[in-house]
Amino acid sequence: SADKEKASSVAKIKVVVRKRPLNKKEIAKKEEDIITIEPNSNSLTVHETKLKVDLTEYVEKNEFVFDAVLAEEVSNDEVYRETVEPIVPIIFQRTKATCFAYGQTGKQRVSGSGKTYTMQPLPLKASQDILRLMHHTYRNQGFQLYVSFFEIYGGKLYDLLNDRRKLCMREDGKQQVCIVGLQEYRVSDVEIIKEFIEKGNATRSTGTTGANEESSRSHAILQLVIKRSADGNESKPARVVGKISFIDLAGSERGADTTDNDKQTRMEGAEINKSLLALKECIRALDSDQGHIPFRGSKLTEVLRDSFVGDSRTVMISCISPNSGSCEHTLNTLRYADRVK
Ligand code: ADP
Ligand code: MG
Repeated sequence: SADKEKASSVAKIKVVVRKRPLNKKEIAKKEEDIITIEPNSNSLTVHETKLKVDLTEYVEKNEFVFDAVLAEEVSNDEVYRETVEPIVPIIFQRTKATCFAYGQTGKQRVSGSGKTYTMQPLPLKASQDILRLMHHTYRNQGFQLYVSFFEIYGGKLYDLLNDRRKLCMREDGKQQVCIVGLQEYRVSDVEIIKEFIEKGNATRSTGTTGANEESSRSHAILQLVIKRSADGNESKPARVVGKISFIDLAGSERGADTTDNDKQTRMEGAEINKSLLALKECIRALDSDQGHIPFRGSKLTEVLRDSFVGDSRTVMISCISPNSGSCEHTLNTLRYADRVK
């Protein structure tokens, strides 16, 4: 059918890089923009300053090619169009999709690469489109939209729409993941979804060191689930049709916190490292169509297990900072994205 054709034309895995603009602080520090993107191309070049043995400087150019490269002037609307919009119609056809934001996080003196800035508007725009399809194309067919929002922090799950209540995960043997106790809200109005997203973001782990510092060590997962009652009859039990998960990943540089003096920071660093590596392995396995997908590598991949099996779609948005001071992190992010691709 036409719908099936549409579904198969959406890439199974898409890797997109988004560069943010230099900010005022970086400009004031006279930091250079080391990323160049040719207009209308899907490649970018990192200009890395290196030292020779005699300590003279030289610039090494590193070129990377991705499915799409979004320059600093690209708006959030365009990011949505390039990444999530093509997937929305096919989650009505039993597809499960995941959209990740990967990259370096901000700390006291360093600005983040734009993960949260990029990720926050996406579920709202997606739910707008989902509701439009439900109210028009699929009118009176018994489709329902649900939202849930939780985080993985130190390998544990917390409900962001229910006062950070601790949750646990169970598998039902049919490759379906069940997060016991996770609050799922039925929504039919974009304004309500907006409130849920804001509430969830405000509930993300915040410690004495400040919100961004702590949330940079957690993965935040917002899920939009489409269900349908048999025969379009709402008095009959609703079954999951498809879903899309939006994941604001922990800061990639946090995986390196494994030598920190603080034991908890060290443990969290190890967990983040493990989960980002496991995620990469899972996406690679998906792409190669090999039967075995190494979900068990981490809590993150276990939780997303049912989104990787069957007809799935994955979008990885790798966020990068343009400033010279972030060069090493930027290269690490691009190498990670390159390996996922
Ligand atoms: P992260 O979540 O990766 O730590 P943030 O999303 O918090 O990073 O972004 C860091 C800062 O940069 C924020 O102040 C944010 O508003 C700004 N920023 C990020 N991306 C962009 C962009 N594409 N355009 C303009 N400002 C941006
Ligand atoms: Mg963030």
